[in-house]
Order: sequence, then structure tokens, then C-alpha cells
Amino acid sequence: MDAPYAKLEQLQPGIARVLAHNPSAFTYYGTQTYLVGTGEVAVIDPGPDLPEHVDALEEAIGGRRVVAIMCTHTHRDHSPASQPLAERTGAPLIGCAPLALETVGPRADAAFDGDYAPDVVLEDGATLEVDGKPVTAVATPGHTSNHLCFAYEAALLTGDHVMGWSTTVVFPPDGDMAAYMQSLDKLRQRDDRIYYPAHGPPVTNPRQYVRHLAGHRMQREKQILGIVRQQALAVPDIVSAAYPGLDPRLTTAAGGSVLAHLLDLQRRGLVEQQQDRWKTV
Ligand SMILES: [Zn+2]
Repeated sequence: MDAPYAKLEQLQPGIARVLAHNPSAFTYYGTQTYLVGTGEVAVIDPGPDLPEHVDALEEAIGGRRVVAIMCTHTHRDHSPASQPLAERTGAPLIGCAPLALETVGPRADAAFDGDYAPDVVLEDGATLEVDGKPVTAVATPGHTSNHLCFAYEAALLTGDHVMGWSTTVVFPPDGDMAAYMQSLDKLRQRDDRIYYPAHGPPVTNPRQYVRHLAGHRMQREKQILGIVRQQALAVPDIVSAAYPGLDPRLTTAAGGSVLAHLLDLQRRGLVEQQQDRWKTV
């Protein structure tokens, strides 16, 4: 794919991006690593451990002091480069909590990076300073339980919580639909002017976009309820009914998303499970 891999692109004063060469059905053109700051920098979502990407980051940093290497979450397309980059720059890893999850069964989201070992875990609202300006952690569980966004001036670096090209994969057990919806709501209470996601273009109408995302999920929930009200069905049959003409590469992801909705509905007492079939209560 033709995309600006390994190039430093200045997006606005204090925010630049380097695209990693890991395109896929789930990463779009690849993971976008952000450099926040001018005289010194924080590196956000260092990305996959590809030597040419780590080289490109080192060149982009250009000898400036790296205040922190920060990960939004620990999927393998986001955090593995944190280790080699820390070795090259001497910078500490400050960001999301580590998360080990057994990868049993089919996964639609990326596997977890079990080697991620942060020096400091940021709680919701915690800040660190780059060039004397705060970078603030905004806890946004849902895509994963340890997901953080990072706020810098009027911008929010949204990781995989809100993406500019696709809806976010919410895949149980670590992905949680109720948490994800609450985390969308949390963004609606903020007045960020622009989102820079880890995948896809910037979002320049954050409020409207988040409202659209929440509406999309609520519609999907209603649709799933309607389907299992007719008859008790297993997840694959619900996927066929809810996603006609789905790209086969996305079947597992859609199954995870349907399951995430069903688990949320079950918690709210609206559906129940009998063996592998789901029905309304
Ligand atoms: Zn992810």
C-alpha cells in the first residue's frame, strides 16, 4: 500500500506522526506513532517491534530528550516497540497498566503484548509534562480494560478507543461493551477539538463523531434484541442475520461484537443464555 511509512509528518505544532509498516484488516495502513512536544517529546503508541519503525522513530526524535514512552493499551500493534525504544533512548515507560490475558480461542482483536513492563502506570487524570505542558491520561476502558487516551492541549490521542476509519473492535472477555459506551460518554463530556487515533485519519468533529459511534452501537443492540426475540439463536446465526454480506475476514470480529452486546444485555437482565443459544427474557 502506498502510505507515508517511516516519515515524520508534522500535524500541528507539538504533534507529529510516524506510520509503522503493519497494514491489515484491523490496523488500516498501520499503527500511527505520535510524537508530542517540541524541545522534548513523549512518544505515544510506539507500535509494533519492527526495526525499520524503531529506526524511523529514533530519527524523528533526533536526539531530543524523550520524557516518556506512553502506550494507550497493550495490543501487539501498539506496545512492543516500547522496549527497544526505551533501550535506545533511555526513556521511561509511563502509561497504561500491563495486562496479561490468555489467548485461548479465536481472537478478532490483536493479541496482547505479555512483555510490556511499564515503569509507571498512569491513573485516570494523571499528568506528566512535556515542554512544561501537561499530557493527561484519560481512562477509556472498553476496547481493552487497560485503555487510556492522552490529552495534549486541545487534542486527544485516542488510541483504538475512537478511530478515524472504522468502528472499534470490542471483543470479550477483555473487551466490554458497557465500559466502551461509558468511555464514549466520557469523551462527550470533554471539549477536545481534534482526535488523533492510532489508526486512520484525524477526527475533526469529535462531538458529532462520538455521538454517531454511540448511536451506531445502540442501533446494533436494538437489532440484536429484535433477532433473539424472534427465536433463540447462537452467536454465528445472529451474526448472519445482523451483518448480511459481511467481509468473511471480519466474521470473528462481528461475533465478538455480538457477544459483547449479549453479555451487556444479560447483565441488564434483558437476555439469557441456554447452552449456546441466546434469547430474550
Ligand atoms: Zn487495539
